[in-house]
Amino acid sequence: MFVGHYSAALAAKAAEPGAPLWTYVIGAQLLDIGWSGLVIGGVERVSFDPNLPGSTLVLEHMPWTHSLPSAVLWSVAAALVVRFAMKLSWRACIFMSLVVFSHWIADFLVHRPDLELWFGGTKVGLGLWNHPLPEEALEIGLLAVAGAFWAGQRVRAGRHVWPAALFLALLVALQIVAMLTAAPGSAQQLGMTGLAIYLAFGAIAWLIERGKDDVADRLPAVAARA
Ligand SMILES: [Zn+2]
Repeated sequence: MFVGHYSAALAAKAAEPGAPLWTYVIGAQLLDIGWSGLVIGGVERVSFDPNLPGSTLVLEHMPWTHSLPSAVLWSVAAALVVRFAMKLSWRACIFMSLVVFSHWIADFLVHRPDLELWFGGTKVGLGLWNHPLPEEALEIGLLAVAGAFWAGQRVRAGRHVWPAALFLALLVALQIVAMLTAAPGSAQQLGMTGLAIYLAFGAIAWLIERGKDDVADRLPAVAARA
């Protein structure tokens, strides 16, 4: 799962707009942000098998980011950080932890068995990656549904819909580019590319909400021009 993870961020924003979009966007990929850092540092390990369908990743060792207990810990930690560092409501914190944990659930659907149920324990994964077409359809389908809810929330809040459409278009474009490009040459390269993409989308989400794009705000300007 790649861009499909962001559907959880968009659905959470629609259900609980109290948290900034960028926190949900970073939260949806928090496990992979940690994973990218640990792969660059050589703590978690990945290799590539070009003969594998769907994804060429062989995720050999990633207990600190993608085991079930780690995913729970990252989710709780993220909720506490947004609670105490950003003073968000408890409801927003709960949504934040659900977004972070959704990453593990989505990975469980698509990964081949590489997610530890306990440190060093049984590895699980339903392996939808082995069926690339339904896997891609699932990612884009989840994005479309969550994106529609998010766009609806923006309309209700009196904000423009086009930034949401642009964000969704960028995500779909990213998925297509990821599908068409060859696997990176090394694990470090993959980690650095991943990190850059995850942080860039966090920044884009921040920019989307930073711009003052209330429809009501623009009305006087439109009227003045008319
Ligand atoms: Zn992951």
